Amino acid sequence: MQRDLTTEYVAEINRLKLEKNTVILSHYYQTGDIQDIADFIGDSLALSQKAAETNADIILFAGVRFMAETAKILAPQKKVLLPDMNAGCSLADSCRSEEFIKFIKDNPGRTVITYVNTNVEIKALSDICCTSSNAVQIIESLPVNEKIIFAPDRNLGNYILNKTGRDMKIWNGTCHVHEEFSLEAIIDLKKSNPDAKIIVHPECELPVRIIADFIGSTSALLNFTAKDDGKCYIVATEPGIIHQMKKENPHKTYIPAPPRDSTCGCSECNFMKLITMEKIYNCLLNETPEILIDTATILKAQKPIIRMLDISKKAGL
Ligand code: SF4
Repeated sequence: MQRDLTTEYVAEINRLKLEKNTVILSHYYQTGDIQDIADFIGDSLALSQKAAETNADIILFAGVRFMAETAKILAPQKKVLLPDMNAGCSLADSCRSEEFIKFIKDNPGRTVITYVNTNVEIKALSDICCTSSNAVQIIESLPVNEKIIFAPDRNLGNYILNKTGRDMKIWNGTCHVHEEFSLEAIIDLKKSNPDAKIIVHPECELPVRIIADFIGSTSALLNFTAKDDGKCYIVATEPGIIHQMKKENPHKTYIPAPPRDSTCGCSECNFMKLITMEKIYNCLLNETPEILIDTATILKAQKPIIRMLDISKKAGL
C-alpha cells in the first residue's frame, strides 16, 4: 500500500508547530493544502498585522520573501522562516535600490510610498508602505497637495492615480502574473458565461480593469464573492484565492481568467508555488532557511510599515 505522504507531513507539521510554539502564516496564493494547514491565511496587509501581534516564538511564512522580510521587520526578536529562499517576486525585483535612489533624487520633494511587494532595501528608502487593500486610504490620508512617488507597480499606481487624482510619479514595475491576463480570452469567457461577473485585482492592466464588474485587493475580491448575490465569477488574480472562495461559497462557480499564452499556466505565481508541504516540514524541523536582516536596516524599514499599520488602523482596515 502506498504511504500517504501528505497526511504524514500534515501530522508532523502540526506536532512540530506545537513543540516549537510556531505560527504558520499563509498567503492566499499558496496551494489549497498549504492554506489548510496554516494558522492564519490572508493578504499582505492581514499577514503583516498578524506577524506584528503574534505571541509565537517562530513565524513560518508560506509565501514569498518580501512577506517573510516584512514579518521579520515587525517582529525582529522572533525567528522567521521561509521554506524556500528562491521564493522571490518579479514585482519586487523590478525595483532595485540603486535605480530607485536615482528615481528619488530625480523627483525631489516627494513622499515615497511603496507597495509592501518590495525588497527590504526599498522599504528602508520609503516614507510609508501600502498594500492593495489600503493604498487608496494611505494616499488619501496625506494632504491634497502632497507630491508622491509610488513604486513599484505601475498598474496599481495608475489605478490609485485615477481614484485620487493626486500628483504621483509612478515607478514602471509590474507583476508577471497580473500582466499576463488576456483581455480577449476574458471577453470570450464572458460571452459563453453571460451571468458571470468579472472581478479583477488592481495590479492588472487598464484594459482588463475597464471591463471589470469589481476591482479590489485579494481579500476584497474574496469578500465580494462571499457577499454578492451573483452565482458565477471570472477571477483575474492568482487562482490560489479560489480555494478560499470555494470554501466560503461552495455552490458558486469561479472561473480563473486565462493568461495570454494558454499553454503556460502563467496566471499562477511560480514564486508562490515554490513552497511545498515537504519544504515546510523540513524548514520547521531544521529551523532553516531563516530570514536575517541587520538591525540598522530593520530600524529604517520599520518606520514606513508601522506608519502603514497606524493609518490602516485609523481607517478601520
Ligand atoms: S503574484 Fe506577482 S506580486 Fe505576488 S508574489 Fe507573485 S510575482 Fe510577486
